[in-house]
Amino acid sequence: MAARKLFHPPSILPLAGLFVLTLGLTLLGTLTRPIESLSLFWPINAILLGLLLRQASLATPPGWLAIYLGMVAADLLTGNDLLTALWLNACNMGLLLTAWYLMVHLPGQPRLEHPLALLHLLLACAAGAAVAASLACTMDGARWFDGTLQTTWLSWFTEQFSTCLLILPALLTAPRSWHRPNLHELRLLRALPLLALLASLAAGLVIGGPGALAFPVPALLWCALRYRLFTLAVLTMLTGLVEIVGVAGSLTFYGVAQHSLDDSALMSARLGISMLVMGPLVVAVATTINRQLLERLEHRANHDTLTGALMRNALAQQTSALLERRRQQPGSSPLSLLMIDIDHFKAINDTHGHAMGDQVLRTFAAELRQQLRQGELFGRLGGEEFAVVLPGANRVEALHIAERLRATVERLQFPLADGGTLRITVSIGVATLGEREYDLPLEQALLRADMALYQAKAQGRNRVMMAEERPD
Ligand code: GH3
Ligand code: MG
Ligand code: MG
Repeated sequence: MAARKLFHPPSILPLAGLFVLTLGLTLLGTLTRPIESLSLFWPINAILLGLLLRQASLATPPGWLAIYLGMVAADLLTGNDLLTALWLNACNMGLLLTAWYLMVHLPGQPRLEHPLALLHLLLACAAGAAVAASLACTMDGARWFDGTLQTTWLSWFTEQFSTCLLILPALLTAPRSWHRPNLHELRLLRALPLLALLASLAAGLVIGGPGALAFPVPALLWCALRYRLFTLAVLTMLTGLVEIVGVAGSLTFYGVAQHSLDDSALMSARLGISMLVMGPLVVAVATTINRQLLERLEHRANHDTLTGALMRNALAQQTSALLERRRQQPGSSPLSLLMIDIDHFKAINDTHGHAMGDQVLRTFAAELRQQLRQGELFGRLGGEEFAVVLPGANRVEALHIAERLRATVERLQFPLADGGTLRITVSIGVATLGEREYDLPLEQALLRADMALYQAKAQGRNRVMMAEERPD
């Protein structure tokens, strides 16, 4: 029995999926492969590498085996003999295993979250491509191209290296779930960097020459500063692919005459192109890291660490923005304020300790936040005093919401060390602001809610009181 429990056979379904995916991609790649001698792209390795880096649970020995078998099966189906299929794909596996091993052991992977992440990616791709190229050179009849081992090595290396470098950033940064782009993102202003990129590619066509490869760099840098990392990664990938196709199509504007295109010119261009887009990618990674850092700092600056509620200043600022909007649009929906104070909180600290008091505050705040809807504000005014701002809620609705919050808190239970249970209650003062109160700072706007709270306390606590309507 014990032995049986120790053995966990890998789940067969993901492995079968990996096999079928590899087989399908390889067949598709082989069938759609352009002129063989150019061997423009072999993106299968980069796609599989991206998948295994994103889905770590697949990167196991059975997973690698499923990939290898998928590749070999595809080669056999397309007419290769067994020995060639085994060898060719051993080269591919050399790339996958080496690059994968380095990627998972270098900082910032797999999602490019480190300033050096792209340089590490470059290193991993170079090492993987070098292993694949070296293995390819040991094959029988490896000298395919112009007969030298050096050309064979270089052509394997450049294809694998540049393809991985161009494709992997987009695969690694792709969001896990698809968000429909909102209209805001489609505005002309936001599209300008993209238009500049298209214009620079077009300028490359018109002006031509070897320098044309670098024309898109400024536009890509602009994109790097304006767009998400994933969007930029897709743009660099597409730019790189367009340029490689341009060179390979021996278009004279890239300085490569129609009939003089040789493999070394293509290899050199391909290496250059994949390295050229590293600059904008590094800028995008650094910008993303800085933006995330700023967002974290801003969150810290505006939110109370114990409860996660807005701090007084941030609450005042956001409330005055809501009031300002109402002032500018007379007749817009009302705004109500709740002032919430935990009853006899000092006694909780005194009886059960400060740590328990903190725990009560945390749970209470989390519970309250859950009850609120998008757009409603929740702030901590200090100690055990909180405020809720309800844009759009009139007197009746605000009273209803306050009553619901009071009842929720009443139902909360806090287990105590001695096995008992602690319960808490709150008193709530509610005020709905009249139009003449829209210019008031938060403190004064809260005044009527505060007076109602005072009445709730005076009348025995654990209750909701509505402030008198302000005589206009
Ligand atoms: P009432 O029903 O009248 O509101 O009585 P109360 O005891 O809740 O009110 P009081 O203002 O007398 O006490 C508030 C207490 O809240 C006093 C203070 O020590 C405690 N307190 C304030 N901030 C924190 C905190 O962050 N953590 C803990 N554990 N206690 C806090
Ligand atoms: Mg209190
Ligand atoms: Mg108080």
